[in-house]
Amino acid sequence: MGHTVLYPLRFEPIYEYRLWGGRRLAELLRAPMPNGPIGEAWVLSDRDDHASTVDNGTLNGQTIGQLMHEFPEQMMGNLAGHFQRFPLLLKFLDALEMLSVQVHPGYPPSKALPEGQVAKTEAWVVLEAGKESRIDAGLKSGTTPEILRQSVANGRLADHLASFTPKPGDAIFIPAGTVHALGGDVVVFEIQQNSDTTFRLYDWGHVEAATGKPRALQVDEALACINFGKSAAGLVQAVIEAVAPSRRERLFDCEAFRLWRLSGESPFPVGASALPRVLVCTQGSGQIEHAGSTYAVGKGEVWILPASVGICDFLPSDPVTLLEIALPDN
Ligand SMILES: [Zn+2]
Repeated sequence: MGHTVLYPLRFEPIYEYRLWGGRRLAELLRAPMPNGPIGEAWVLSDRDDHASTVDNGTLNGQTIGQLMHEFPEQMMGNLAGHFQRFPLLLKFLDALEMLSVQVHPGYPPSKALPEGQVAKTEAWVVLEAGKESRIDAGLKSGTTPEILRQSVANGRLADHLASFTPKPGDAIFIPAGTVHALGGDVVVFEIQQNSDTTFRLYDWGHVEAATGKPRALQVDEALACINFGKSAAGLVQAVIEAVAPSRRERLFDCEAFRLWRLSGESPFPVGASALPRVLVCTQGSGQIEHAGSTYAVGKGEVWILPASVGICDFLPSDPVTLLEIALPDN
């Protein structure tokens, strides 16, 4: 292969059947959606079983893993060599029904994780919600392991969850060790550490259509990694960093990722010098301008600006909302 110069990279979504899913991702994403309840679109994933591929330009068809391997300096810049795989997993979720109540390991932070398990902190930005929508993030105060175990056994778990009715624009932080669920016709963007370890505490009596059976629970494993103390879980107050040329709100800033929401109608800068950034368009459309070329960006699309691309101008075609994501740099 000759010398390839990286450019802004758009990725193809991977749709996933989920029994709690709906059909709303078809309105958000351009790629044709398969039949049935679709709960997840994996829009950036460096996992062997779900490898995101580039769908624009000369690198069309390459997986993100191949890019990380072949172009570590151009992709990651100052972060080259820090990660074996791309460290974040990005999805859109459409939860028509309630997801299982679950928890991911990584709490307490001092406790070593068993072989093969990776910590998972995640966060959601609500894109659509209705009157019946619900988000559970954490436990009501005073909930002990004994109370929780009993409530799982007698189907009263929901009584002990810290719940609220989400609205579009809400930002919710779910650090590792937080009991969480969502559903009732809600669409969110999800950012998480690139880990697949989930312990299911309760599943609302759901039955898998294919097997006619309930899904397995992992109550003991879940109880072992739940944070029963105070935590930062739940609704996050946005920090407004700028109002021009775009409104720039910082929604999440943790060890695993940083995420801003940018909105505006006039050109504004995106990306960072010598660092990779991810852009997710959740509303409107526009163009990325880089090295004398423009790249059309539509609603629902996910792009990587490789470190070698650096800072570029974003030219909105109409009022646009982008999420800009930075990788952990410590
Ligand atoms: Zn989760």
